[in-house]
Amino acid sequence: MDTTAGNAAKKIALVTGANKGIGLEIARQLGQAGFTVFLGARNAALGEAAAAKLRANSLDVRCVELDLGNASTIAAAAKTIEALGGRLDVLVNNAGIADGADGPPSTANIDAVRRVMETNFVGTLAVTQAMLPLLKTAPAARIVNLSSGLGSLQWNSDPNWAFASYKLLGYNASKAALNMLTVQLAYELRDTPIKVNSANPGYTATDMNGHQGNQTIEEGAAESMRLALLPADGPTGGFFETGAVDPW
Ligand code: NAP
Repeated sequence: MDTTAGNAAKKIALVTGANKGIGLEIARQLGQAGFTVFLGARNAALGEAAAAKLRANSLDVRCVELDLGNASTIAAAAKTIEALGGRLDVLVNNAGIADGADGPPSTANIDAVRRVMETNFVGTLAVTQAMLPLLKTAPAARIVNLSSGLGSLQWNSDPNWAFASYKLLGYNASKAALNMLTVQLAYELRDTPIKVNSANPGYTATDMNGHQGNQTIEEGAAESMRLALLPADGPTGGFFETGAVDPW
């Protein structure tokens, strides 16, 4: 076992897609909270550059190559994390894509829908399954799935909702499916200390939306951080944004 973390009691976190955007901010804040953070990135060079910047601020952040669409990188990442401490205390499933060819049901490009579902839902499921043995070894692990208000069936069916015109079938369905993962996994793990929740970060200025979002990345990371650090009496199997419970 690698003991370079220095402190066996130090908690270990993995954030997927953390080389930029909300994931990078979550990685930074988990580092500040005292975690050893594995910063997941499908492009190892970009991930290493991001991790080096955080390390320059005295945070214990290590890049791990992890592509949601590449099973061997997922398996290798689990082995790397296991070698450090034999467990994983926090998994933040942040990585995700939107696709310019996505759109409403009548016109969405089928390959785009497939790509988005494959990354945001199937890829996240694959990472979660690979990390589950390590999460079960931790005393009280937390799993946070970065969902979206666009994944809410109730809001999608409300013509007066502020984002009612954002009918991206692939993206919205991928986040609704991710919410199903949250609910079903929380049910499976109901007799364990592990808590599984979906976070809606809110409309946040990142590359994903050409920086059109009206929130800062600090605001976008806030609810995921709260769910990553939930106390023992915190909720599981829920869907939350800052200060509110979101409708499924
Ligand atoms: P972003 O800046 O585009 O970052 C997305 C991250 O995911 C990048 O690091 C990207 O890596 C990574 N990624 C994409 N595909 C991947 C794959 N196959 N394997 C591993 N990593 C992959 O987006 P963001 O706004 O921070 O989004 C973070 C999460 O919040 C996403 O799940 C998104 O759906 C969700 N969300 C965002 C908003 C918003 O307003 N921004 C609102 C609701 C929900 P590369 O750099 O290599 O592309």
